[in-house]
Amino acid sequence: MASSLKNRGIGSDRDLVRLLNIKLIYHEPDVLEFKRGQEIFAKYPDAQRIEVPSHWNIPELHGNEGSVDDWNRIKHTVLVLGVKKSLTARPNTRSSDFVAPSHANGCAMACAYCYVARRKGYANPITTFVNIEKITRYIQRHAAKQGLKTEPNQADPDCWVYDIGENSDCSVDTAICDNVKDLIHLFRDIPNAKASFATKRVNRNLLDYDPQGKTRIRFSLMPAAIAQVVDVRTSAVGDRIAAINDFVEAGYEVHLNFSPVIFYENWLEEYEALFKELDDVLSPAAKAQLKCEIIFLTHNEQLHDVNMNWHPQAEAMLWRPELQEAKISETGGRNVRYRRGLKGTWVEQFCGLLQQTLPYCTIRYAF
Ligand code: SF4
Repeated sequence: MASSLKNRGIGSDRDLVRLLNIKLIYHEPDVLEFKRGQEIFAKYPDAQRIEVPSHWNIPELHGNEGSVDDWNRIKHTVLVLGVKKSLTARPNTRSSDFVAPSHANGCAMACAYCYVARRKGYANPITTFVNIEKITRYIQRHAAKQGLKTEPNQADPDCWVYDIGENSDCSVDTAICDNVKDLIHLFRDIPNAKASFATKRVNRNLLDYDPQGKTRIRFSLMPAAIAQVVDVRTSAVGDRIAAINDFVEAGYEVHLNFSPVIFYENWLEEYEALFKELDDVLSPAAKAQLKCEIIFLTHNEQLHDVNMNWHPQAEAMLWRPELQEAKISETGGRNVRYRRGLKGTWVEQFCGLLQQTLPYCTIRYAF
C-alpha cells in the first residue's frame, strides 16, 4: 500500500506544489534579520514581496468574507511571514497538556468546519513565524519547569504533551520551511515532553525527521464519502490511512483523531467500514501503539453564513438546527453542538462500535 502511495506521488514534493505555489509574500519589516526568514526568501526568489506592519492586519487577506471566490487562489499562492511576539504555552485539557507557542497559523487547505479560519479571517493563508529559535528555547525552558510527570492522564501516561499544530497543519507547514523539523528534533532531547499535532495531509518528507518516538501524529479521519464534501484540499482519507504504517516505522507515535464526527443518516455504517479498513491496513506495530480521540462536531453561526456563499453542500451536512443547540465558546463566540441527549447516545454508539471493531485502539477521550 505504501509503495502504491509513493507511485502515485502522494505526499511527495510534487503533490505539495499542487497545494502550494507561493507567488506573493507579505512580511513584517524585520523578518530578514532572522535566518529562517532569509531561508524562506531564498526558497521563493521570484515571489513578489510586500512589507506590512503586522501579520495580523492585512486587510486584503483577513476578515475579507467578500473574497470567497479568491480563497483557494490566496491559500495556494500567498504566504505571510512574521515574528512571534508574545510566547506562552497555554494549558490544554484534552488532546495535550499544553498548546505550544505557534510556529505558524493559517492553512493551505480549506475544511468547511475549520475553526482556524474563525480567528484570522476566511482566506487565512499560512503565516510562518521566523523566530523559531526563540520559540524552541521557550518550550525547552517551559518543559524543564514542569519536572517529571507523576500522574498519568489522557494526554499521555509519562510525558508532558505539547500541541505544536493547534493553529495550522504541520504537514503542510513543512513544505515552507524547517520550523516543524526543528520542533521535532527539539523534543527528542527533552526527556519529560513530547510534541503532538493533528493532520489531514500526508507529507512523506516527515518520514526522514527521525522523531525517536517523541512526536505524536494524529491522523484525522472520517468516512471518505463525507470527507470528499467537507475536507477541502486535504489528502484523501484512504491515503492518510495508507501512510500510518510508514510513519510508525519512521519512529512516530501515530494516533487517530476522529474529528469532527458529523452525524448523518447512515453515519454508523460508514464509520464501521472505516474501522474495518483500518483493521485491514494497519500493521501489528501500528496496532500495538494505537490510541484515538473522538470529537463530535461543533459549528459556528458566522462560519455557517460564510459557508452558505461558497459551499452550501457542506453546510447541509454541518448545519442541522433540528439536532443542534447553542453553546457559548471559551472566547465568547456563539457555537452550536449536537443536543445533549442525542450527543450522549451517539458518543456511546460510536465508542461501542470502535471497541468492537478495533479492540486494540484505546480511546483517550470522547465528547
Ligand atoms: S487541515 Fe486543519 S487547519 Fe487546515 S483547513 Fe482543515 S481543519 Fe483547518
